[in-house]
Amino acid sequence: MSDLRELYQQLILDHNRSPKNFRTLEEPTGHADGHNPLCGDRVTVYVRLEGDLVADVSFLGEGCAISKASASLMTQALKGKTLAQAQDLLAKFVAMVTTDAPPDEALGKLAVFKGVCEFPMRVKCATLAWHTLEAALKP
Ligand code: ZN
Repeated sequence: MSDLRELYQQLILDHNRSPKNFRTLEEPTGHADGHNPLCGDRVTVYVRLEGDLVADVSFLGEGCAISKASASLMTQALKGKTLAQAQDLLAKFVAMVTTDAPPDEALGKLAVFKGVCEFPMRVKCATLAWHTLEAALKP
């Protein structure tokens, strides 16, 4: 059983302290609000699609370190990806934190959230931004 301290690895702490893409977008093609009542996390995800490409993605919100770092790393991972790649990453991320399977290579740094799968209460923190992104991508 992993220690909770391990869960809060340095990368998560850094992204919580200085989140990337923590802003609104000028002309988003989509945005959505997400709320995790179990923990009190709130996030708004903004996305700007150019054709099939995720040209820009950002977020604002308040919540625990896991939820904020997950949103921050998500925006970094998705910028410049195609819509299909973004949806593929979403599926792989959710699979990583909800099953025992090892993280898919495509997840890169996002593998830091693998430990979350041992803490069911934290899974919703880690997936909040991703599910909110899913809603923001809906036309
Ligand atoms: Zn949380």
